[in-house]
Amino acid sequence: MKFVELKLSEKSLRSIKNYGYEETTEVQKRTIPKIMEGRDLIVRSQTGTGKTAAFSIGLMERIAAGKLCKAIVLVPTRELAVQVTKEMNGLCQVHQLRIYAVYGGTPITKQMRELKKHYDVLVATPGRLLDLVRRDKMDMSQFNAIVLDEADHMLDMGFQNDVLSILDMMPAERQSLLFSATIDEGIKKISLRYMPDAELITIGEMAPVSTVHEQKIEVQFSERFSKLRDILNLHNGMKILVFARTKRGVMGLKRRLEKSGFNEVGMLQGDMPQPRRLKVLNQYREGGLSILVATNVAARGLHIDDVNLIVNYDEAEDKETHLHRIGRTGRMGREGKVINLLCADGPKPQGRHRCGPRNVHSRQHNRHSGR
Ligand code: AMP
Repeated sequence: MKFVELKLSEKSLRSIKNYGYEETTEVQKRTIPKIMEGRDLIVRSQTGTGKTAAFSIGLMERIAAGKLCKAIVLVPTRELAVQVTKEMNGLCQVHQLRIYAVYGGTPITKQMRELKKHYDVLVATPGRLLDLVRRDKMDMSQFNAIVLDEADHMLDMGFQNDVLSILDMMPAERQSLLFSATIDEGIKKISLRYMPDAELITIGEMAPVSTVHEQKIEVQFSERFSKLRDILNLHNGMKILVFARTKRGVMGLKRRLEKSGFNEVGMLQGDMPQPRRLKVLNQYREGGLSILVATNVAARGLHIDDVNLIVNYDEAEDKETHLHRIGRTGRMGREGKVINLLCADGPKPQGRHRCGPRNVHSRQHNRHSGR
């Protein structure tokens, strides 16, 4: 479907066209008209399907038409806050909406000053937003729409209480939109309590996209690094993302790769200061780094376009994390390849679906992932 077929204002159509989008994606086609009607939505959609533009365009139409005052977009990570703000700014340019982001790892005083100016949409991570509320710098009653982006990840990261507090502080009369790649018990609880009339929209199956080809390689734990080296040499010139489980693992892997002669290697892990994380991400996006070694910090929601190969050096903790990881490739119909290194003799991941032999999910997961 073309955007012109949606009943959008002339200004929005011009803005979307200027940004370079012509055809809607499935999630955009199905959600934008409903967001424009003011409906509450719970949207389950795989990563990379165009969720950000879906809520950005829907909100832009309502704000520009004077049906919403201000909206808040809650995101789990700082990187995602920056990315969502960038896309929203691009898409809302003709309307001249002001989108502002607040997230941790950057000075709060600067953000407090900026917040005194006018803005239409605030993109925020839950912790920093609550920090601002506690300092009396944020009046939550001014927002009459909220988007919970990557809601499953927000809950996984331990933000459940923060998210509930934020929802409690907002006006009861509001529009709520929840986007998530998985709808699990935590999400269902939020939806029952805060969005009882929401419509559930499900896009596609909870499975890897069809353009992603996965390969499993069984390897001895002691041989794993040399296998990785072979794989990287074989795929020389491609944009490669290597997932390791721990921050230390990521640091060690980067060091060993550099020692082995790979010189365009970057890393992304949660202990790095925010400016450094953004810098590495930009270098990787722009082609200055061909290999990025990362923890699951990079697994969700990040638009790193044209990743050709993902190597799971350490297996993901659970199926959802695995799907998020591999969602970094094969985006928007492109081809992508995933190589999973399986070590029968290596340490096993400690995930939430792996809590003992009596746990049904654990058995299902093991069967599914072919271990
Ligand atoms: P998201 O699901 O929001 O992470 O979006 C995935 C990628 O798709 C991003 O790189 C977007 O810029 C791109 N994208 C979203 N909507 C469209 C569209 N209608 N046409 C072309 N690209 C799009």
